[in-house]
Amino acid sequence: MRDAFRPSALVPRGFAVDDAACDAAGLLITVRAANKTSACPECGSICTRVHSRYRRRLADLPMAGKPLRLVVLARRFHCDATLCGRRIFAERFDAAVLAPWGRRTARLDHIIHHLGLALGGRPAASLARRLRLPVSNDTLLRVVRRHGGSRFLPPTVIGIDDWAWRRNQRYGTIICDLERRKTIALLPDREPATAQAWLSDQPQIAVVARDRGGGYAVATAKALPQATQVADRWHLMENASRAFLDAVRKSMRQIRAAIGAATIDPDLLTAAERIQYEGYLHREDTNAAILGLAKDGVTIKEIVRRTGHSRNLVRRVLRGQRSDVFRVRESSLELYLPWLDAQWAAGQCNGAELWRRLKTQGFRGCLRVVAEWAARRRRAEQVDGNALSRAPSARTIARFMTIGRDSLSKSETVTVAAVESGVPQLVEARSIIADFRAMIRKKALANLEPWLARARPSLVASFANGVMKDHAAVSAAITSPWSNGQTEGQITKLKLVKRQMYGRGKIDLLQARVIGAV
Ligand SMILES: [Zn+2]
Repeated sequence: MRDAFRPSALVPRGFAVDDAACDAAGLLITVRAANKTSACPECGSICTRVHSRYRRRLADLPMAGKPLRLVVLARRFHCDATLCGRRIFAERFDAAVLAPWGRRTARLDHIIHHLGLALGGRPAASLARRLRLPVSNDTLLRVVRRHGGSRFLPPTVIGIDDWAWRRNQRYGTIICDLERRKTIALLPDREPATAQAWLSDQPQIAVVARDRGGGYAVATAKALPQATQVADRWHLMENASRAFLDAVRKSMRQIRAAIGAATIDPDLLTAAERIQYEGYLHREDTNAAILGLAKDGVTIKEIVRRTGHSRNLVRRVLRGQRSDVFRVRESSLELYLPWLDAQWAAGQCNGAELWRRLKTQGFRGCLRVVAEWAARRRRAEQVDGNALSRAPSARTIARFMTIGRDSLSKSETVTVAAVESGVPQLVEARSIIADFRAMIRKKALANLEPWLARARPSLVASFANGVMKDHAAVSAAITSPWSNGQTEGQITKLKLVKRQMYGRGKIDLLQARVIGAV
Protein backbone atom coordinates (compact mmCIF):
# COMPACT_ATOMS: atom_id res chain seq x y z
CA MET A 1 0.00 0.00 0.00
CA ARG A 2 1.27 3.46 -0.83
CA ASP A 3 1.64 6.16 1.77
CA ALA A 4 -0.25 9.36 1.29
CA PHE A 5 1.95 12.28 0.19
CA ARG A 6 2.61 14.84 2.89
CA PRO A 7 3.96 18.36 2.20
CA SER A 8 6.55 17.84 4.93
CA ALA A 9 8.17 15.24 2.67
CA LEU A 10 9.31 18.14 0.46
CA VAL A 11 11.19 20.04 3.15
CA PRO A 12 14.28 18.89 5.05
CA ARG A 13 13.95 16.35 7.82
CA GLY A 14 12.85 17.75 11.19
CA PHE A 15 10.65 20.52 9.80
CA ALA A 16 6.89 20.77 9.50
CA VAL A 17 5.21 22.81 6.78
CA ASP A 18 3.10 25.73 7.93
CA ASP A 19 2.32 27.41 4.69
CA ALA A 20 3.25 27.38 0.99
CA ALA A 21 2.96 30.19 -1.52
CA CYS A 22 4.11 30.99 -5.02
CA ASP A 23 5.28 34.33 -6.37
CA ALA A 24 7.27 35.63 -9.33
CA ALA A 25 10.55 34.74 -7.63
CA GLY A 26 9.52 31.09 -7.11
CA LEU A 27 8.13 29.02 -4.28
CA LEU A 28 8.03 30.14 -0.69
CA ILE A 29 7.46 27.54 2.01
CA THR A 30 7.10 28.48 5.65
CA VAL A 31 8.26 25.81 8.08
CA ARG A 32 8.92 25.36 11.77
CA ALA A 33 10.77 22.81 13.79
CA ALA A 34 8.84 19.62 14.36
CA ASN A 35 10.35 19.31 17.85
CA LYS A 36 8.81 21.12 20.78
CA THR A 37 12.15 21.33 22.56
CA SER A 38 15.76 22.18 21.75
CA ALA A 39 19.07 21.34 23.39
CA CYS A 40 21.14 24.19 24.82
CA PRO A 41 24.38 24.49 22.83
CA GLU A 42 26.28 25.34 26.03
CA CYS A 43 25.23 22.68 28.52
CA GLY A 44 23.19 20.28 26.42
CA SER A 45 20.13 20.24 28.65
CA ILE A 46 16.76 19.98 26.93
CA CYS A 47 14.90 23.28 27.13
CA THR A 48 11.17 23.87 26.64
CA ARG A 49 10.58 27.51 27.67
CA VAL A 50 10.31 29.68 24.54
CA HIS A 51 11.69 33.20 24.82
CA SER A 52 10.70 34.57 21.42
CA ARG A 53 10.34 33.73 17.73
CA TYR A 54 12.06 35.06 14.63
CA ARG A 55 12.15 34.32 10.90
CA ARG A 56 15.16 32.71 9.33
CA ARG A 57 15.38 32.73 5.52
CA LEU A 58 17.07 29.81 3.75
CA ALA A 59 17.73 28.79 0.18
CA ASP A 60 16.86 25.21 -0.67
CA LEU A 61 16.92 22.89 -3.68
CA PRO A 62 14.64 24.07 -6.51
CA MET A 63 11.30 22.36 -6.90
CA ALA A 64 9.54 21.65 -10.19
CA GLY A 65 11.94 23.98 -12.00
CA LYS A 66 11.29 26.88 -9.63
CA PRO A 67 13.68 28.32 -7.06
CA LEU A 68 12.59 27.42 -3.55
CA ARG A 69 12.99 29.60 -0.46
CA LEU A 70 12.28 28.40 3.02
CA VAL A 71 11.19 30.66 5.85
CA VAL A 72 11.87 29.02 9.19
CA LEU A 73 9.82 30.23 12.15
CA ALA A 74 12.67 29.71 14.56
CA ARG A 75 12.52 30.06 18.34
CA ARG A 76 14.77 31.37 21.03
CA PHE A 77 14.77 29.34 24.23
CA HIS A 78 15.56 30.07 27.88
CA CYS A 79 18.15 27.76 29.37
CA ASP A 80 16.99 27.00 32.92
CA ALA A 81 20.00 24.94 33.99
CA THR A 82 21.34 26.61 37.13
CA LEU A 83 25.03 26.20 36.34
CA CYS A 84 24.78 27.15 32.65
CA GLY A 85 26.26 30.49 31.64
CA ARG A 86 23.89 30.78 28.68
CA ARG A 87 20.51 32.39 29.44
CA ILE A 88 18.98 32.50 25.96
CA PHE A 89 19.84 30.60 22.81
CA ALA A 90 18.55 30.25 19.26
CA GLU A 91 17.28 26.78 18.53
CA ARG A 92 19.64 24.43 16.74
CA PHE A 93 18.76 21.92 14.04
CA ASP A 94 20.36 18.68 13.03
CA ALA A 95 23.75 19.70 11.56
CA ALA A 96 23.21 17.23 8.72
CA VAL A 97 20.13 19.28 7.75
CA LEU A 98 21.08 22.86 8.54
CA ALA A 99 24.29 24.36 9.89
CA PRO A 100 23.87 26.78 12.87
CA TRP A 101 24.38 29.99 10.90
CA GLY A 102 23.72 28.47 7.46
CA ARG A 103 21.96 30.47 4.76
CA ARG A 104 21.37 27.29 2.75
CA THR A 105 20.05 23.89 3.64
CA ALA A 106 22.73 21.22 3.90
CA ARG A 107 21.29 19.38 0.90
CA LEU A 108 21.67 22.49 -1.28
CA ASP A 109 25.15 23.11 0.08
CA HIS A 110 26.11 19.56 -0.84
CA ILE A 111 25.02 19.97 -4.46
CA ILE A 112 26.79 23.32 -4.73
CA HIS A 113 29.96 21.78 -3.34
CA HIS A 114 29.96 19.04 -5.95
CA LEU A 115 29.08 21.41 -8.75
CA GLY A 116 32.04 23.56 -7.73
CA LEU A 117 34.34 20.54 -7.53
CA ALA A 118 33.33 19.31 -10.94
CA LEU A 119 33.32 22.57 -12.86
CA GLY A 120 35.11 25.27 -10.90
CA GLY A 121 33.75 28.76 -10.23
CA ARG A 122 32.39 30.44 -13.32
CA PRO A 123 31.23 27.42 -15.36
CA ALA A 124 29.61 25.98 -12.25
CA ALA A 125 27.81 29.26 -11.57
CA SER A 126 26.34 29.37 -15.05
CA LEU A 127 25.17 25.76 -14.82
CA ALA A 128 23.76 26.49 -11.37
CA ARG A 129 21.69 29.31 -12.87
CA ARG A 130 20.20 26.90 -15.38
CA LEU A 131 19.44 24.46 -12.58
CA ARG A 132 17.70 27.29 -10.64
CA LEU A 133 20.20 27.03 -7.84
CA PRO A 134 20.58 30.41 -6.16
CA VAL A 135 24.35 30.68 -6.03
CA SER A 136 27.05 33.02 -7.30
CA ASN A 137 30.52 32.35 -8.61
CA ASP A 138 32.11 33.52 -5.35
CA THR A 139 29.79 31.44 -3.20
CA LEU A 140 30.65 28.35 -5.21
CA LEU A 141 34.36 28.84 -4.68
CA ARG A 142 33.82 29.61 -1.00
CA VAL A 143 31.81 26.42 -0.51
CA VAL A 144 34.48 24.37 -2.28
CA ARG A 145 37.20 25.94 -0.14
CA ARG A 146 35.27 25.42 3.08
CA HIS A 147 34.71 21.71 2.39
CA GLY A 148 38.12 21.10 0.91
CA GLY A 149 40.24 20.93 4.03
CA SER A 150 43.09 18.48 3.89
CA ARG A 151 41.17 15.66 5.50
CA PHE A 152 42.64 12.32 4.51
CA LEU A 153 43.31 9.02 6.14
CA PRO A 154 46.97 8.75 7.19
CA PRO A 155 48.69 6.99 4.29
CA THR A 156 51.34 4.28 4.52
CA VAL A 157 52.35 4.06 0.86
CA ILE A 158 52.71 7.29 -1.05
CA GLY A 159 53.90 8.50 -4.44
CA ILE A 160 55.49 11.93 -4.69
CA ASP A 161 56.26 13.84 -7.86
CA ASP A 162 56.38 17.34 -9.22
CA TRP A 163 53.88 18.96 -11.57
CA ALA A 164 53.98 22.16 -13.52
CA TRP A 165 51.87 25.14 -12.51
CA ARG A 166 53.40 26.68 -15.54
CA ARG A 167 55.90 24.77 -17.62
CA ASN A 168 59.54 25.72 -16.96
CA GLN A 169 58.47 28.45 -14.57
CA ARG A 170 56.70 27.23 -11.51
CA TYR A 171 56.32 23.74 -10.12
CA GLY A 172 54.34 22.22 -7.29
CA THR A 173 54.44 18.85 -5.58
CA ILE A 174 51.71 16.22 -5.68
CA ILE A 175 51.41 13.46 -3.11
CA CYS A 176 49.20 10.43 -3.71
CA ASP A 177 48.06 7.68 -1.42
CA LEU A 178 48.98 4.72 -3.62
CA GLU A 179 46.88 2.22 -1.66
CA ARG A 180 43.69 4.24 -1.82
CA ARG A 181 44.53 5.61 -5.26
CA LYS A 182 43.87 9.20 -4.21
CA THR A 183 45.64 12.52 -4.32
CA ILE A 184 46.01 13.63 -0.71
CA ALA A 185 48.11 16.77 -0.90
CA LEU A 186 49.35 19.47 -3.22
CA LEU A 187 52.36 21.45 -2.05
CA PRO A 188 52.98 24.92 -3.47
CA ASP A 189 56.55 24.23 -4.67
CA ARG A 190 59.00 21.39 -5.15
CA GLU A 191 61.56 22.43 -2.58
CA PRO A 192 62.96 19.52 -0.54
CA ALA A 193 62.26 21.49 2.67
CA THR A 194 58.54 21.77 1.87
CA ALA A 195 58.24 18.08 1.09
CA GLN A 196 60.27 17.23 4.18
CA ALA A 197 57.96 19.27 6.42
CA TRP A 198 54.89 17.50 5.07
CA LEU A 199 56.48 14.05 5.29
CA SER A 200 57.62 14.63 8.89
CA ASP A 201 53.97 14.93 9.96
CA GLN A 202 53.23 11.46 8.59
CA PRO A 203 55.64 9.18 10.46
CA GLN A 204 53.50 6.11 9.67
CA ILE A 205 54.53 6.23 5.99
CA ALA A 206 56.47 3.09 5.14
CA VAL A 207 56.98 3.31 1.37
CA VAL A 208 57.73 6.38 -0.74
CA ALA A 209 57.71 6.02 -4.52
CA ARG A 210 59.56 8.94 -6.13
CA ASP A 211 61.43 9.78 -9.28
CA ARG A 212 65.11 9.04 -9.50
CA GLY A 213 67.49 11.41 -7.77
CA GLY A 214 66.29 14.93 -7.12
CA GLY A 215 65.15 16.59 -3.93
CA TYR A 216 62.44 14.13 -2.92
CA ALA A 217 65.03 11.44 -2.19
CA VAL A 218 66.83 13.79 0.20
CA ALA A 219 63.59 15.03 1.78
CA THR A 220 62.38 11.47 2.35
CA ALA A 221 65.69 10.35 3.82
CA LYS A 222 65.59 13.22 6.31
CA ALA A 223 61.91 13.11 7.24
CA LEU A 224 61.32 9.35 7.15
CA PRO A 225 64.67 7.61 7.56
CA GLN A 226 62.99 4.28 8.18
CA ALA A 227 60.77 4.37 5.08
CA THR A 228 61.61 2.35 1.98
CA GLN A 229 62.26 4.53 -1.03
CA VAL A 230 61.21 3.16 -4.39
CA ALA A 231 62.66 4.62 -7.57
CA ASP A 232 59.89 5.12 -10.04
CA ARG A 233 59.81 2.39 -12.68
CA TRP A 234 58.29 4.66 -15.31
CA HIS A 235 61.17 7.12 -14.93
CA LEU A 236 63.70 4.29 -14.87
CA MET A 237 62.43 2.97 -18.17
CA GLU A 238 62.48 6.46 -19.61
CA ASN A 239 66.04 7.05 -18.35
CA ALA A 240 67.12 3.76 -19.90
CA SER A 241 65.79 4.80 -23.31
CA ARG A 242 67.49 8.15 -22.99
CA ALA A 243 70.78 6.47 -22.05
CA PHE A 244 70.69 4.49 -25.28
CA LEU A 245 69.90 7.60 -27.30
CA ASP A 246 72.90 9.32 -25.69
CA ALA A 247 75.06 6.34 -26.61
CA VAL A 248 73.93 6.67 -30.24
CA ARG A 249 74.65 10.41 -30.17
CA LYS A 250 78.15 9.79 -28.86
CA SER A 251 78.74 7.30 -31.67
CA MET A 252 77.48 9.39 -34.56
CA ARG A 253 80.95 9.79 -36.10
CA GLN A 254 81.46 6.01 -36.29
CA ILE A 255 77.86 5.56 -37.43
CA ARG A 256 78.32 7.95 -40.34
CA ALA A 257 81.48 6.14 -41.36
CA ALA A 258 79.73 2.77 -41.09
CA ILE A 259 76.74 3.82 -43.15
CA GLY A 260 79.03 5.53 -45.65
CA ALA A 261 78.10 4.61 -49.18
CA ALA A 262 76.15 1.54 -48.14
CA THR A 263 72.86 3.37 -48.27
CA ILE A 264 71.00 4.60 -51.25
CA ASP A 265 68.47 7.21 -50.32
CA PRO A 266 65.20 5.67 -51.59
CA ASP A 267 63.79 9.16 -52.10
CA LEU A 268 66.20 9.66 -54.93
CA LEU A 269 64.98 6.63 -56.89
CA THR A 270 62.06 6.39 -59.29
CA ALA A 271 59.11 4.21 -58.38
CA ALA A 272 60.36 1.43 -60.64
CA GLU A 273 63.88 1.68 -59.30
CA ARG A 274 62.58 1.60 -55.78
CA ILE A 275 60.82 -1.70 -56.43
CA GLN A 276 64.05 -3.08 -57.80
CA TYR A 277 65.96 -1.69 -54.86
CA GLU A 278 63.61 -3.36 -52.40
CA GLY A 279 64.07 -6.62 -54.28
CA TYR A 280 67.80 -6.18 -54.03
CA LEU A 281 67.58 -5.51 -50.30
CA HIS A 282 65.33 -8.51 -49.89
CA ARG A 283 67.83 -10.72 -51.66
CA GLU A 284 70.60 -9.32 -49.52
CA ASP A 285 68.58 -10.15 -46.40
CA THR A 286 68.02 -13.71 -47.57
CA ASN A 287 71.69 -14.09 -48.36
CA ALA A 288 72.69 -12.77 -44.95
CA ALA A 289 70.28 -15.10 -43.18
CA ILE A 290 71.53 -18.16 -45.09
CA LEU A 291 75.18 -17.27 -44.62
CA GLY A 292 74.56 -16.63 -40.94
CA LEU A 293 73.06 -20.07 -40.45
CA ALA A 294 75.89 -21.71 -42.39
CA LYS A 295 78.42 -19.92 -40.23
CA ASP A 296 76.75 -21.38 -37.14
CA GLY A 297 77.40 -24.81 -38.61
CA VAL A 298 73.85 -25.55 -39.74
CA THR A 299 73.74 -28.08 -42.60
CA ILE A 300 72.31 -27.20 -46.01
CA LYS A 301 69.43 -29.57 -45.49
CA GLU A 302 68.58 -27.89 -42.23
CA ILE A 303 68.86 -24.39 -43.74
CA VAL A 304 66.43 -25.42 -46.48
CA ARG A 305 64.02 -26.67 -43.82
CA ARG A 306 64.26 -23.54 -41.65
CA THR A 307 64.18 -20.83 -44.30
CA GLY A 308 61.89 -22.47 -46.83
CA HIS A 309 64.21 -21.55 -49.71
CA SER A 310 65.06 -24.08 -52.39
CA ARG A 311 68.13 -26.26 -52.01
CA ASN A 312 69.43 -24.82 -55.25
CA LEU A 313 69.17 -21.24 -54.02
CA VAL A 314 70.82 -22.03 -50.70
CA ARG A 315 73.67 -23.70 -52.51
CA ARG A 316 74.17 -20.77 -54.88
CA VAL A 317 74.23 -18.34 -51.97
CA LEU A 318 76.79 -20.41 -50.10
CA ARG A 319 78.99 -20.57 -53.19
CA GLY A 320 78.79 -16.80 -53.46
CA GLN A 321 76.97 -16.93 -56.80
CA ARG A 322 74.09 -14.74 -55.82
CA SER A 323 75.71 -11.60 -54.56
CA ASP A 324 74.18 -9.23 -57.05
CA VAL A 325 74.78 -5.53 -57.17
CA PHE A 326 72.00 -3.00 -57.22
CA ARG A 327 72.01 -0.98 -60.42
CA VAL A 328 69.84 1.90 -61.42
CA ARG A 329 67.85 0.80 -64.46
CA GLU A 330 68.38 2.36 -67.83
CA SER A 331 65.33 4.47 -68.55
CA SER A 332 63.57 5.71 -71.66
CA LEU A 333 65.06 9.10 -70.84
CA GLU A 334 68.61 7.85 -71.30
CA LEU A 335 68.96 9.32 -74.80
CA TYR A 336 67.65 12.71 -73.79
CA LEU A 337 69.57 13.15 -70.55
CA PRO A 338 72.27 15.47 -71.97
CA TRP A 339 69.56 17.68 -73.46
CA LEU A 340 67.60 17.64 -70.16
CA ASP A 341 70.71 18.46 -68.16
CA ALA A 342 71.39 21.42 -70.42
CA GLN A 343 67.80 22.67 -70.00
CA TRP A 344 68.04 22.21 -66.23
CA ALA A 345 71.31 24.08 -66.08
CA ALA A 346 69.69 26.88 -68.09
CA GLY A 347 67.07 27.21 -65.34
CA GLN A 348 64.16 25.24 -66.78
CA CYS A 349 63.06 23.17 -63.78
CA ASN A 350 59.36 22.61 -64.44
CA GLY A 351 58.63 18.94 -65.22
CA ALA A 352 55.54 19.60 -67.36
CA GLU A 353 57.25 22.27 -69.39
CA LEU A 354 60.30 20.05 -69.89
CA TRP A 355 58.06 17.24 -71.06
CA ARG A 356 56.32 19.49 -73.63
CA ARG A 357 59.69 20.64 -74.99
CA LEU A 358 61.06 17.10 -74.91
CA LYS A 359 58.20 15.91 -77.09
CA THR A 360 59.31 18.29 -79.83
CA GLN A 361 62.69 16.54 -79.57
CA GLY A 362 61.01 13.25 -80.42
CA PHE A 363 60.49 11.84 -76.89
CA ARG A 364 57.57 9.37 -76.83
CA GLY A 365 57.29 8.74 -73.09
CA CYS A 366 54.66 10.10 -70.76
CA LEU A 367 54.71 13.15 -68.52
CA ARG A 368 55.24 11.09 -65.33
CA VAL A 369 58.69 9.93 -66.43
CA VAL A 370 59.90 13.49 -66.91
CA ALA A 371 58.15 14.81 -63.81
CA GLU A 372 59.78 12.11 -61.68
CA TRP A 373 63.15 12.90 -63.19
CA ALA A 374 62.70 16.59 -62.34
CA ALA A 375 61.56 15.82 -58.80
CA ARG A 376 64.54 13.54 -58.24
CA ARG A 377 66.86 16.12 -59.67
CA ARG A 378 65.49 18.73 -57.30
CA ARG A 379 65.89 16.46 -54.29
CA ALA A 380 69.40 15.50 -55.33
CA GLU A 381 70.31 19.19 -55.37
CA GLN A 382 68.87 19.68 -51.93
CA VAL A 383 71.03 16.79 -50.66
CA ASP A 384 74.05 18.90 -51.34
CA GLY A 385 75.86 17.81 -54.44
CA ASN A 386 76.76 14.21 -54.96
CA ALA A 387 75.84 12.94 -51.49
CA LEU A 388 73.43 10.25 -52.48
CA SER A 389 73.51 8.71 -49.04
CA ARG A 390 72.85 10.48 -45.79
CA ALA A 391 72.98 9.19 -42.24
CA PRO A 392 69.66 9.56 -40.37
CA SER A 393 69.56 11.46 -37.05
CA ALA A 394 70.67 9.88 -33.79
CA ARG A 395 67.06 9.67 -32.64
CA THR A 396 66.04 7.87 -35.83
CA ILE A 397 68.91 5.43 -35.57
CA ALA A 398 68.12 4.73 -31.92
CA ARG A 399 64.54 4.01 -32.94
CA PHE A 400 65.53 1.82 -35.89
CA MET A 401 67.83 -0.15 -33.64
CA THR A 402 65.19 -0.80 -30.99
CA ILE A 403 61.88 -1.32 -32.74
CA GLY A 404 62.57 -4.75 -34.17
CA ARG A 405 63.31 -5.83 -37.69
CA ASP A 406 59.74 -6.62 -38.64
CA SER A 407 58.68 -2.99 -38.46
CA LEU A 408 61.55 -1.69 -40.58
CA SER A 409 61.54 -1.09 -44.30
CA LYS A 410 64.24 -2.79 -46.29
CA SER A 411 66.39 0.31 -46.62
CA GLU A 412 66.12 0.93 -42.89
CA THR A 413 67.21 -2.64 -42.31
CA VAL A 414 70.28 -2.01 -44.46
CA THR A 415 71.11 1.07 -42.37
CA VAL A 416 70.74 -0.84 -39.11
CA ALA A 417 72.85 -3.70 -40.41
CA ALA A 418 75.59 -1.26 -41.43
CA VAL A 419 75.54 0.38 -37.99
CA GLU A 420 75.52 -2.96 -36.21
CA SER A 421 78.50 -4.30 -38.06
CA GLY A 422 80.40 -0.99 -37.94
CA VAL A 423 79.76 0.01 -34.31
CA PRO A 424 79.57 -3.19 -32.22
CA GLN A 425 79.69 -1.19 -28.93
CA LEU A 426 76.21 0.10 -29.78
CA VAL A 427 74.90 -3.41 -30.17
CA GLU A 428 76.31 -4.14 -26.74
CA ALA A 429 74.71 -0.99 -25.30
CA ARG A 430 71.38 -1.94 -26.82
CA SER A 431 71.52 -5.37 -25.30
CA ILE A 432 72.47 -3.88 -21.90
CA ILE A 433 69.48 -1.54 -22.01
CA ALA A 434 67.18 -4.35 -23.10
CA ASP A 435 68.43 -6.44 -20.18
CA PHE A 436 67.74 -3.58 -17.80
CA ARG A 437 64.17 -3.28 -19.02
CA ALA A 438 63.68 -7.03 -18.82
CA MET A 439 65.07 -7.03 -15.28
CA ILE A 440 62.54 -4.40 -14.20
CA ARG A 441 59.68 -6.15 -15.96
CA LYS A 442 60.50 -9.60 -14.62
CA LYS A 443 61.43 -8.27 -11.17
CA ALA A 444 64.73 -10.13 -11.39
CA LEU A 445 66.70 -8.48 -8.57
CA ALA A 446 69.46 -11.11 -8.76
CA ASN A 447 70.40 -9.71 -12.18
CA LEU A 448 71.16 -6.23 -10.87
CA GLU A 449 74.78 -6.81 -9.80
CA PRO A 450 75.83 -8.68 -12.96
CA TRP A 451 74.03 -6.02 -14.98
CA LEU A 452 75.96 -3.22 -13.24
CA ALA A 453 79.24 -5.06 -13.81
CA ARG A 454 78.46 -5.33 -17.50
CA ALA A 455 77.04 -1.83 -17.96
CA ARG A 456 79.70 0.21 -16.18
CA PRO A 457 82.42 -0.16 -18.83
CA SER A 458 79.91 0.24 -21.70
CA LEU A 459 78.56 3.19 -23.68
CA VAL A 460 75.75 3.59 -21.11
CA ALA A 461 78.17 3.88 -18.19
CA SER A 462 76.72 7.14 -16.91
CA PHE A 463 73.27 5.59 -16.65
CA ALA A 464 74.81 2.63 -14.81
CA ASN A 465 76.56 5.01 -12.41
CA GLY A 466 73.27 6.77 -11.74
CA VAL A 467 71.63 3.44 -10.92
CA MET A 468 74.60 2.60 -8.71
CA LYS A 469 74.18 5.83 -6.71
CA ASP A 470 70.49 5.15 -6.16
CA HIS A 471 71.09 1.46 -5.58
CA ALA A 472 68.63 0.82 -2.74
CA ALA A 473 65.74 2.64 -4.40
CA VAL A 474 66.35 0.92 -7.74
CA SER A 475 66.45 -2.46 -5.99
CA ALA A 476 63.14 -1.56 -4.37
CA ALA A 477 61.78 -0.56 -7.78
CA ILE A 478 62.58 -4.03 -9.08
CA THR A 479 61.00 -5.90 -6.18
CA SER A 480 58.30 -3.56 -4.86
CA PRO A 481 54.79 -3.65 -6.24
CA TRP A 482 54.54 0.14 -5.81
CA SER A 483 55.27 2.58 -8.56
CA ASN A 484 54.52 6.17 -9.36
CA GLY A 485 52.51 5.11 -12.41
CA GLN A 486 49.23 6.16 -10.85
CA THR A 487 50.73 9.42 -9.63
CA GLU A 488 51.32 10.24 -13.28
CA GLY A 489 47.61 9.58 -13.84
CA GLN A 490 46.69 11.88 -10.96
CA ILE A 491 48.90 14.59 -12.44
CA THR A 492 46.93 14.30 -15.67
CA LYS A 493 43.72 14.77 -13.70
CA LEU A 494 45.25 17.73 -11.87
CA LYS A 495 46.24 19.38 -15.14
CA LEU A 496 42.69 19.04 -16.39
CA VAL A 497 41.29 20.77 -13.32
CA LYS A 498 43.98 23.43 -13.49
CA ARG A 499 43.14 24.16 -17.12
CA GLN A 500 39.43 24.52 -16.26
CA MET A 501 40.43 27.21 -13.81
CA TYR A 502 42.16 29.10 -16.63
CA GLY A 503 45.45 29.12 -14.76
CA ARG A 504 44.07 31.43 -12.06
CA GLY A 505 43.61 28.75 -9.43
CA LYS A 506 45.15 29.27 -6.06
CA ILE A 507 46.68 26.23 -4.43
CA ASP A 508 43.96 25.83 -1.77
CA LEU A 509 41.20 25.89 -4.36
CA LEU A 510 43.09 23.55 -6.64
CA GLN A 511 43.70 21.28 -3.68
CA ALA A 512 40.04 21.39 -2.68
CA ARG A 513 38.94 20.46 -6.17
CA VAL A 514 41.53 17.77 -6.82
CA ILE A 515 41.33 16.14 -3.42
CA GLY A 516 37.64 16.68 -2.80
CA ALA A 517 36.65 15.41 -6.21
CA VAL A 518 37.67 11.81 -5.72
ZN1 LIG B 1 22.44 25.72 28.88
